[in-house]
Amino acid sequence: MKDIKNWAKDNFPVINNNDISYLDNAATTQKPIKVIEAVSEYSKKFHANIHRGAYSLSVNATIKYDSVRKKVKDFIHASSDEEIVFTKGTTESFNLLAYSYAENITAGDEIVISYSEHHSNILPWQTLCKNKGAILKYLDIDEEGIIDIEKISDTITKKTKLVSVTMISNAMGAIQPVGEIIKAAHEVGAVVALDAAQSAPHMKIDVRELDCEFLAFSAHKMFGPTGVGVLYAKKSMHNRLIPYQTGGDMIEYVELQSYTHAPMPSMLEAGSPNIEGIIGFGAAIDFIEEVGIDEIEKMEKELTAYAVDKMGSIPEVTVHGPKDIDKRGALISFSIKDVHPHDVASILDAGGVCVRAGHHCAQPLMKRLGLISTSRASFSIYNTKEDIDKLCENIRKVRKWLGYGSK
Ligand code: PMP
Repeated sequence: MKDIKNWAKDNFPVINNNDISYLDNAATTQKPIKVIEAVSEYSKKFHANIHRGAYSLSVNATIKYDSVRKKVKDFIHASSDEEIVFTKGTTESFNLLAYSYAENITAGDEIVISYSEHHSNILPWQTLCKNKGAILKYLDIDEEGIIDIEKISDTITKKTKLVSVTMISNAMGAIQPVGEIIKAAHEVGAVVALDAAQSAPHMKIDVRELDCEFLAFSAHKMFGPTGVGVLYAKKSMHNRLIPYQTGGDMIEYVELQSYTHAPMPSMLEAGSPNIEGIIGFGAAIDFIEEVGIDEIEKMEKELTAYAVDKMGSIPEVTVHGPKDIDKRGALISFSIKDVHPHDVASILDAGGVCVRAGHHCAQPLMKRLGLISTSRASFSIYNTKEDIDKLCENIRKVRKWLGYGSK
């Protein structure tokens, strides 16, 4: 295998320009030069608005933009380009879905999510349930943050119309048993939405194999620009969706008092999109394909196993989440005895290590596990064992810095 450290410096300017161990990849990843250059080249040489111009600059911009939709389709193994809707990110994808699917929900219906969800996969469903008189139910989790499959049938019942769960918890790292959940949902005729924000960057996603109806993820967590995301919507669902925003690009005909909307995916993409961001996202997918998603998963698993072992052997450190490495994504939530996670993050920062501290936008999960907040180290392909060693070296200093003595 190549020398990751030099490869990372050659490919990722932020890694090269800062003497840091960047371990906040679950929040956002750094961008490879190829992505930065694709955005810059597009802006310098090719920029025009899409789907409008009769002139070649605009036609070419449209071709480039549409080619990214095809790349995304291939990346997640969707059946057609029409199933790929560009959004601002996972958050917008869920807000869009909850609004656009609302017509299919009536009073007394049940929507099922889990305790493991990011707020962006909770709040849109709370709003929908309030508006419709529907009921929001939560799949329970075990002490490692894994959804308890023994209890699925207590929660997913004949009243369930939609189930929306994360594939990997951003707060605990738990890989969720979505196969069993999808099966249980389909058995009662419910549709399934998956939050792939923490899985699409790290493992192969095949929406046909998963057999989900909807799937959401963000470009900026997979080497792409911020402000770009995807909602996959299976073709058989298209006639159940209504426009989310209205205006340019999403219409067929507009009369004084009414309009007809364009077919999918334009129906859900009103207004001028983030063209350069989407072009950059295309370059990010090319980058992932070059490295290989299976290789990424393998490297990150090795790194995560190394980190779990090493961090777990430090007295006063509690590693949260699954003990079985095969049930854990590329992140570790941890606590240091008697130290607030924000102090942990600040002290690690002084040592050149970037980790996240807080509730990770997953307050119901934290509360369910009896936690207020944790520190979180999350990995990507440019991280090395030296980064983990540096993390552990600095973790060992935290309590000493705060005057707890050597233990
Ligand atoms: N879901 C999960 C599991 C996440 O980790 C995040 C980002 N932390 C989101 C949703 C929201 O993503 P975004 O902020 O890109 O919309």
